[in-house]
Amino acid sequence: MSAERWWIAEAPVTFTWDLWYACNYRCSYCWWEMGGLWETLAKQHKLLPPAEWDAVWTRIYDRCGEARIEVLGGEPLLYPKFGELLRLLSAKHRLQVTTNLSPEPAQLERLLDPLSPERVHFNASFHPQFIGLQPFLERTQVLQDRGFDPGVLFVTWPPLLPRLEEYRREFVSRGYPFSAMIFQGDWEGRTYPEAFTPAEKAMIEGVMNHPTLKSAEVRYRLDRDAVIGKLCHAGRVYANVKANGDVYRCGQDAFGRRPMGNLFDPGFELLDAPKPCPYRQCSCLEFKYLDELLQAPQAAA
Ligand code: SF4
Repeated sequence: MSAERWWIAEAPVTFTWDLWYACNYRCSYCWWEMGGLWETLAKQHKLLPPAEWDAVWTRIYDRCGEARIEVLGGEPLLYPKFGELLRLLSAKHRLQVTTNLSPEPAQLERLLDPLSPERVHFNASFHPQFIGLQPFLERTQVLQDRGFDPGVLFVTWPPLLPRLEEYRREFVSRGYPFSAMIFQGDWEGRTYPEAFTPAEKAMIEGVMNHPTLKSAEVRYRLDRDAVIGKLCHAGRVYANVKANGDVYRCGQDAFGRRPMGNLFDPGFELLDAPKPCPYRQCSCLEFKYLDELLQAPQAAA
């Protein structure tokens, strides 16, 4: 894997990991917030010393080699001893952390001190309900000054859409890749993304900029094309880990299905072959593990 922009190239094995279910923000468009799920989910998460998580992920390293771990939450940076956890895990795996970047700049600097941009990448989610543009930019600047190359994420919640282009310009002019996360949920009695108007869809399409997946993103994420029956490598080269260690083939599988295993089980293994997708629609960017995209990524550009 090239050291340059390694977080964009597909890794041999990728895990998304809900580290825990706690956050200092309560964004109106957050899945956990819309579902009133914070309290229920928080009963599942484990507050473990970094060395215990390191032992679990070292076992994955011994079995699968270096993986890319996409660390999610809740807000990962607020997890106890998160800096130490990042330092330990990044010695074996490459980490991509999605964060609201809420800690003060001085705290961020301390967190970054022992980390290398070769091993850790940050996706900074801009949540204007809870932080202004200027304080957010101060924090992304800390990352940039230290050689990290953060991307900025923004949720296309209908009340925020009128400022989408203005925000995109602000970030791109400072050298930050800017990506839209498609809002999925209800707003003023309508269900999105289906309820976006053609003009809103065009605006969102205009900021979709995944280097290889843009047309697939429009098809599966915005237009919600069906994936049922298509061969998918989720579970083989990718899995979704919950905060209690349960592992699912993908995020869609986590809604009411039995996990394929648990990270704390020493015998845990990924699937050895792709399987057909049992779901009508695919959330997030996980459709990229469809056989049609993984086998011929150039066809999706
Ligand atoms: S296409 Fe999406 S929903 Fe279906 S198995 Fe693959 S990742 Fe899961």
